[in-house]
Amino acid sequence: MTKCPYCGHDGADKVLKSWRFRFYDVRRMECEKCGKKFNHYKGTSGGKISEFFIKM
Ligand SMILES: [Zn+2]
Repeated sequence: MTKCPYCGHDGADKVLKSWRFRFYDVRRMECEKCGKKFNHYKGTSGGKISEFFIKM
């Protein structure tokens, strides 16, 4: 489950698109509740997981 960075809804799992950016897996997602879009970055670097959102 991915949490929407806009409204906090804990079920934003609609993936519109996914790709690789350097060592990140990027997913463009759309919140089913508020309908807003964001990019979810998840990467592993040096054994630790980093994860962040970019609002569109
Ligand atoms: Zn939302």
